[in-house]
Amino acid sequence: MLKMAFKYIYGPIRSRRLGLSLGLSLSPGKTCNLNCIYCQWGRTVGTVSQRREYADPNEIIAELKSWMRKNPKTAQRLKFVTLSGLGEPTLNTRIGELIGKVKKITSCRIAVITNSTLLGNPRVRKALLGADLVVPSLDAVDEKIFRRIDRPHPDVKLEKIISGLVSFGKEFRGKFWLEIMLVSGINDSIGHINKLKSVIQRINPDKIQLNSPVRRTAEENVLSVPSVKLEKIKKILGEKAEIV
Ligand code: SF4
Repeated sequence: MLKMAFKYIYGPIRSRRLGLSLGLSLSPGKTCNLNCIYCQWGRTVGTVSQRREYADPNEIIAELKSWMRKNPKTAQRLKFVTLSGLGEPTLNTRIGELIGKVKKITSCRIAVITNSTLLGNPRVRKALLGADLVVPSLDAVDEKIFRRIDRPHPDVKLEKIISGLVSFGKEFRGKFWLEIMLVSGINDSIGHINKLKSVIQRINPDKIQLNSPVRRTAEENVLSVPSVKLEKIKKILGEKAEIV
């Protein structure tokens, strides 16, 4: 479990892919339209699909300024401010405004980690254009597997996620890394990986990041994919793929 130092700020966290990054949550509690079996925050109690101002960007910015005042040396070493946190950040209708405000008070790059479910909405895609890096996820391209691993709100449609990702890949000028969370026995069959590969070719991300659960998960018996199999999947997906 990540340490929540403030209401909206967590970390900083050092990771191999981002270096030192400070996380911002765009809602005070878990707010998500998915209920992924591997979620490190536990089950989503009542998925939501409605975009709303789940948190006021001015309040988040006030916390960020306060954190920077209290941690001046760490603030200087930060590589990224990452919008992610407790749930799906693009559910907050003011995410674009928040990106602009963070840019005004820090020289850090801005990353957005999203579950991709709202990328079919042109307003959401436009709101993310100010980010330096977007890491959307796509765990399945098969409806049955998608429902089993990500347990979406009924309003969430897989075909809209895929077309949203394809559009976003064409519109976004920053770095675009597609993340796949692989769970043993659920979405890691070679047949499914081959289907994912052909969809990913249409999306055309800069990188494909393969992940498998290592932290606490929402459900029991959510198993990571053994490293030998991960290497095989990486090989199938080609040179853009990496294990993170
Ligand atoms: S999209 Fe992210 S926050 Fe939402 S349930 Fe899945 S892992 Fe958890």
